Amino acid sequence: MSSLRPSPIAPTVDFDRDGVQHGFLRLPYSRDDSAWGSVMIPICVIRNGKGPTALLSGGNHGDEYEGPLALYDLARTLDPKDVSGMVIIVPAMNYPAFRAGTRTSPIDKGNMNRSFPGRPDGTVTEKIADYFQRELLPRADIVFDFHSGGKTLDFVPFCAAHTLPDKALEQKAFDAVAAFSAPFSMRMIEIDSVGMYDTAAEEMGKVFVSTELGGGGTSRAQTVRVARRGILNLLRHAGIVAGAAEKGRTQWLDMPSGDCFSFAEDDGMIETMVDLGEPVEKGAVLARIHSTGRTGIAPQEIRAKMSGMLAARHFPGLVKAGDCAAVVAVEVD
Ligand SMILES: [Zn+2]
Repeated sequence: MSSLRPSPIAPTVDFDRDGVQHGFLRLPYSRDDSAWGSVMIPICVIRNGKGPTALLSGGNHGDEYEGPLALYDLARTLDPKDVSGMVIIVPAMNYPAFRAGTRTSPIDKGNMNRSFPGRPDGTVTEKIADYFQRELLPRADIVFDFHSGGKTLDFVPFCAAHTLPDKALEQKAFDAVAAFSAPFSMRMIEIDSVGMYDTAAEEMGKVFVSTELGGGGTSRAQTVRVARRGILNLLRHAGIVAGAAEKGRTQWLDMPSGDCFSFAEDDGMIETMVDLGEPVEKGAVLARIHSTGRTGIAPQEIRAKMSGMLAARHFPGLVKAGDCAAVVAVEVD
């Protein structure tokens, strides 16, 4: 089996050493402009004696910024004296995608979150996934992966975990979501969970927590504050950093079924009829898609299949058939 082959990635950090190390995951990548070149993925290890290990990542998708903003900051400021255990920080997991400002890698078009468990003899993206799968995830007790909507989606800011067959593991994940204390906390379902980092971590029995903190291919002051406060809260909750989590008010949300997703069935110009966070009644028009090829065509309406609150929406002004146009979530107590 190819998985027995060692990873080609060479870390320049030592996971067994105390203190702060700023280094790289060096991935050989031979190409036209660098015959014996490498992709240098930044990594920071902050370790102090015995204790749990947190594995923190951003930039799984290269056009999402709250995570990298919070994690480059954390790597620069977290003092090992304040740590019990280890914090592994990879602020830009799909580093080629992050450098390009795109969701997927410009090298191989790899979507990191559909590339797990990866391959040591695969594409650049698959090699990074394989390193996380076999070298980083096994070290972790708690795994946190930042996401936002990227260039094509926008979300109300939430921290999320999944419903799991292992109810004890599920409860630990939701306790961590509560500690993160984003404005919204989500019980999340996935459209397509095969190949996700989330699934890889959960199948390994790790506590896995994620976010969707905004989107549009940028960040906002509020969502970056949420990310920075939340990740420190998570480390306090995990017992790695001392002190109590700094809780704010959170509204719990549920995605009870696939009916929460609405997809465009036409190309055109999209008109949002409901803004993020606003209430939605079943049957209400969430968005209209206007034909642009000629005048005189009535817009297509996208209607809510359930009542709740608008939790996500297509971000760009133009939409294509098949794009996720809107996501409705249900507020729960
Ligand atoms: Zn993402």
